[in-house]
Parts: sequence; structure tokens; C-alpha cells
Amino acid sequence: MKEITDIIETDNDRETYEVARQMGQKATGGDVICLIGDLGTGKTVFAKGFADGVGVTESVNSPTFTIVQVYESGKIPLYHFDVYRIGDSEEMFEVGFEEYVYGDGVTLIEWADLIEDILPAEYTHILIEKDLSKGFDHRIITVSRVYGG
Ligand code: ADP
Ligand code: MG
Repeated sequence: MKEITDIIETDNDRETYEVARQMGQKATGGDVICLIGDLGTGKTVFAKGFADGVGVTESVNSPTFTIVQVYESGKIPLYHFDVYRIGDSEEMFEVGFEEYVYGDGVTLIEWADLIEDILPAEYTHILIEKDLSKGFDHRIITVSRVYGG
């Protein structure tokens, strides 16, 4: 079941960062945040803002070549995945995906739609889309709650 809880429109990367920062402030252990959107829509901008909200002080970059980056400097651990280059879901188990997702921290996954078959039963689905009719920097951020698999 997927239920839309919020639709937010932003006009620059700072606004997207701020939306994500506020969400990060409310994050608690066990939360799973799935970021879905085409290349260049702002998933990593969102991840940086979210990490800021969690209290992460290290600089956050897309872990494209490492699949997962762990940040421990915030109020809870942040597990930042970018699964763009993942071959199949099996590779996710090899990097310890389950230990993270069912761990004490908050998990944030860029390109989560590529591993939809192994996502937990409950998570927050965040779709970021452009709307070029409203300008090159306009983004529509649709937040949904997924539950019950
Ligand atoms: P992704 O991780 O989805 O591939 P990035 O976050 O790396 O995308 O890049 C998004 C790019 O779009 C950045 O260069 C950012 O400055 C730009 N941008 C422009 N407008 C926005 C907006 N409203 N929200 C987020 N990013 C934006
Ligand atoms: Mg990215």
C-alpha cells in the first residue's frame, strides 16, 4: 500500500536541501528513506540536506562506487546507499544491506526503485521530478508512506 503524505515544490537546490534537512531532524532509528528520480533531479542534494538534519558533520557525497557510505557523527548513524551501479539485488546482500536496513540507524537509498524487490515492508518513498514548464530548477517532491509490502 502506498499513500501520498506530502507534495512539495521547490525552485532551487537550497529549498530541496531545506525540505530534506527538516525531514532528517525528525528521523529515528530504523527509518528507511527511498529516493527515486532521474539522474540530476536532486537525490544527492536531498541526501546532503537530510544528513545535515540528522546532525552529520562530515561532507556527504554520492557513494556511487562504494554503494554504501556510513556516517556516524549525527544523533543516529546514517547509512547512505547509491545503488545506481548495482547489478542485481544479490549484490546488496553482499554489502550487508540487511544489517543496515534492520540496524539502529536511518537508511537512505538513492535509486531505490532498482532494488524494489528487496526493500522492507515499510518505508518512505520520495519521488523527485522535474517540471520543465515551470523552469529548469523546478522540482516536485512527492512523499509517500509505503506499508504492508
Ligand atoms: P541526483 O543525485 O538525483 O542524480 P544531484 O543531487 O547530484 O542529482 O544533482 C541535482 C542537480 O540539480 C544539482 O546540480 C542541483 O544544484 C540542481 N538543482 C537545480 N534545482 C534544484 C532543485 N530544485 N532541487 C534540487 N537540485 C536542484
Ligand atoms: Mg546522486
